[in-house]
Amino acid sequence: MGTAYDSAVATDAAFHVGLYARKPVMFVRGAGMRLYDDDGREYLDFVSGIGAVNLGHAHPAVASAIAVQAATLVHVTNLYHVEHRSELAEELVRLAGGGMKAFFGNSGAEATEGAIKLARRWGKLHRGEQCVRIVTAERSFHGRTLAALAATGQASKQEAFEPLPTGFTHVPLNDLESLEAELDETVCAVMLEPIQGEGGVYPCEPDYLAGVRELCDERGILLVLDEVQTGFWRTGRSCFAHQAYGVKPDIMTLAKAMANGLPIGAVLASDDVASAFGPGDHGSTFAGGPVVCAAALATISELQKADAGGNAAIVGEYLRQGLDEIGERTGAIAEIRGRGLMVAAHLKRPVADRVCATALERGIVVNNIGPEILRFLPPLICGTEEADVLLSMLDELLAEDGDGE
Ligand SMILES: *Cc1c(COP(=O)(O)O)cnc(C)c1O
Repeated sequence: MGTAYDSAVATDAAFHVGLYARKPVMFVRGAGMRLYDDDGREYLDFVSGIGAVNLGHAHPAVASAIAVQAATLVHVTNLYHVEHRSELAEELVRLAGGGMKAFFGNSGAEATEGAIKLARRWGKLHRGEQCVRIVTAERSFHGRTLAALAATGQASKQEAFEPLPTGFTHVPLNDLESLEAELDETVCAVMLEPIQGEGGVYPCEPDYLAGVRELCDERGILLVLDEVQTGFWRTGRSCFAHQAYGVKPDIMTLAKAMANGLPIGAVLASDDVASAFGPGDHGSTFAGGPVVCAAALATISELQKADAGGNAAIVGEYLRQGLDEIGERTGAIAEIRGRGLMVAAHLKRPVADRVCATALERGIVVNNIGPEILRFLPPLICGTEEADVLLSMLDELLAEDGDGE
């Protein structure tokens, strides 16, 4: 590592709150699937900013959209019309299949907050003052702000920050009976990730999601789908993961990949649900600004031009097949999960930290969730050659970690 890295580590330790156990590297430049550290060393990126940089780093069309808008007008707030905001709302609604309206936030957590507020507002208006509870899944992740954290089904992330906002109940994923048992007149919404991301890449089973939709329809409860991580072709040919399930949400939250790495979030809601919000009910100084919206429009257009979803489906399948073969050879993999280029290898032994650290030393950026889950979220432009580089390294690194079967 170079002197820029050494200096950043020291300054970080002295002046930045220690919220992250950062990896021993400083990236200073990117191009497509490649990252470069301050020594000029090249890395293959299988994290893409936690599934945010779907087009790859430093994409020229996105860079140019940002630069042009930055030199034209950066910020005037939501008090005024600006270029690109309504156009982006229209594009998102078109991608979602129509019949919806959008509003913007600055992150996934903010999109969650917006969805919670909208669901409660709708519940009180249409089903009575008591109708404010939201049922979510155990192991879910919906963000780190207080209500989003209350919605998140992971006690370990919540306990230090209690008391949290009330009105959230967690049920095991893919268990329709447990969910049904919670649905009464106090529940305004069920909120789910079609594929749980931060919880370890656990997909909803198709029958489960269809069953949830049916239950919600029967009881007049909203279905909120958190597509913050699964959106924008991450999971394959459909722009949003729920489209492959054939289930339509009443509210959908989006963020991560929308502007290829710039902070933006969005909430889409059916026309009926969206009409529960009026002037003054929600807002944000920065949300939906012209720079991020220009970046998002360029990102979405380029993802479509590149058929990123088709590539995610093909290369994702290739990656899972390769992992499967590694599992057979090494006996080190208990389960492979995911869709498209949202993939996890659940290891039999708690060696994920070691594998990620060694991978980084060898120039491959991989992420782990806890000690047993390796997660792969490369840019959607990842080819089979890049997947092969990852696979041959994993084959070697996992050779010693089988269960001896
Ligand atoms: C990352 C994530 C969030 C939170 O997004 P931030 O932009 O980090 O606030 C919410 N939901 C899901 C499913 C996510 O993966």
